[in-house]
Amino acid sequence: MKVLKIDHLGIAVKSINEGKKFWGDLLGLWLEESEAMKAEKLITTFFPIGESEIELLESTDPEGPIGRFLEKRGEGIHHVAFRVENIEEALKELKEKGIRLIDETPRAGARGAKIAFLHPKSTNGVLVELCEK
Ligand code: ZN
Repeated sequence: MKVLKIDHLGIAVKSINEGKKFWGDLLGLWLEESEAMKAEKLITTFFPIGESEIELLESTDPEGPIGRFLEKRGEGIHHVAFRVENIEEALKELKEKGIRLIDETPRAGARGAKIAFLHPKSTNGVLVELCEK
């Protein structure tokens, strides 16, 4: 499996509009359009920063994954995303090595990416997203 780079850091925020005051206005990062991810009950937006990006995640439902995260832990870093060359191969290899997967097969992420999450129990407590673009 080949990890190409840290694709982005996902940050859970109460409000993207509030969040972009720091990430957009103060840091001068260019704000891309927000995208609603209905199945995941969230809205996401990306700020390019050098070779990587910052993803802000706003919940649209307290029962969704970001809603529950905010309730339990408040705003903050939610996940680290690694860009891989071939996500199917990466998942197969990690599974063979005994890594617990949240997604056994890739699903559709924002902006047409293929994504899958690894279980924090296998990654020192960090929610890891793999993505292929
Ligand atoms: Zn992400």
